Amino acid sequence: MAFALSSYPVVYRAKYGDGKWSGEYIEKPHKKADEEAAMGEAERDALADSRNFYADMPLVNYTTQYGLGCFEGIKALPQKNGGLAIFRPDRNASRFYRSMKGLYMPPFPEDEFVKACVETVKRNAAMGFKPSYKAEWEKDSFQSADSIYIRPFTLAEGGIGVNISSAPWVMIVTSPVSSYFSGGNSDAIITDRLRATPKGTGWIKAASNYVIAALAKHEAAEAGFMECVFLDAINHKYIEEGSSCNIFFYLKSGELATPELGDTILPGITRASIIELAKDLKVKISERKISWEEAMTETKECFVSGTAAGATPIESLSYQGKKAVFNSGKVGELTSKIRDTIKGIQYGTLPDTKGWMVHVPV
Ligand SMILES: *Cc1c(COP(=O)(O)O)cnc(C)c1O
Repeated sequence: MAFALSSYPVVYRAKYGDGKWSGEYIEKPHKKADEEAAMGEAERDALADSRNFYADMPLVNYTTQYGLGCFEGIKALPQKNGGLAIFRPDRNASRFYRSMKGLYMPPFPEDEFVKACVETVKRNAAMGFKPSYKAEWEKDSFQSADSIYIRPFTLAEGGIGVNISSAPWVMIVTSPVSSYFSGGNSDAIITDRLRATPKGTGWIKAASNYVIAALAKHEAAEAGFMECVFLDAINHKYIEEGSSCNIFFYLKSGELATPELGDTILPGITRASIIELAKDLKVKISERKISWEEAMTETKECFVSGTAAGATPIESLSYQGKKAVFNSGKVGELTSKIRDTIKGIQYGTLPDTKGWMVHVPV
């Protein structure tokens, strides 16, 4: 599967207590990387699965019972010139900090976050647990390229009464991934479910936000669509985002529009990066309200953005029995330009003029 967890052996774990964070690196059961690579799939999966278990953490806690937790998604990518580099981890560090504060948890220091991400990737890579760069990826602009997915998250202390978490853990696990949306269509449908409400947690990368997203995405898949798109909870009129990604509309007028941020939209780092790249390309970019009618009638290209997805073209958008097909169902020019530019910077085939990549000393 393209996006299954197959945890690498070294995991970072920090715990809050006595007013400070204490971190450690845990080495879960493993064989040599080449021995694991040579194992049968079932046996290898079982070993990787075993690394997802911890005997010394509480089962009943505010995260497992009440969904009180937040997380991040970051990628480390094999570089054309060798080694590995992580895409904008400082931005994930500050969003994680804000998410934890938003959940009234003691926030995890940003510099520690970046250090721990780098060190976790580095320790695994030093034992051979890393993808290697392949020149053949360049042929399809890295659509089928491998990378390391870094998943930092919080886990609350044990407890059963509804409560905030004042002594959480922060864990960082890593897993190899290939491309996120593998094959199939890229049709999207607007869902009537509501992901986030004003004064809620939509702006936080909160675990609980994903309950509605998972239900809506499942319903979309059952109906034959790859992705669902949410409208705002007040007017049921304005586009917000996808199930786990932000959304862009390249309009017939030449404007690249994306919904403006507020407390119901997750401030994506890919979204922010695309806005910067669009400015460099001298594309008129705006962050504003976009009604579903405007999106369906005025769009020439549409794509969603996120760490896992990169910039993924959306070929059609359906709602209330109508279907708007964009660019005759083909990947548009601006969409591919943006997608290829991000991938090029990430894999080191284009210069990193913005200093986005943090190199992992391996
Ligand atoms: C993580 C996430 C995104 C994308 O954020 P990136 O930083 O670009 O990965 C968009 N929407 C939601 C709801 C998310 O959870």
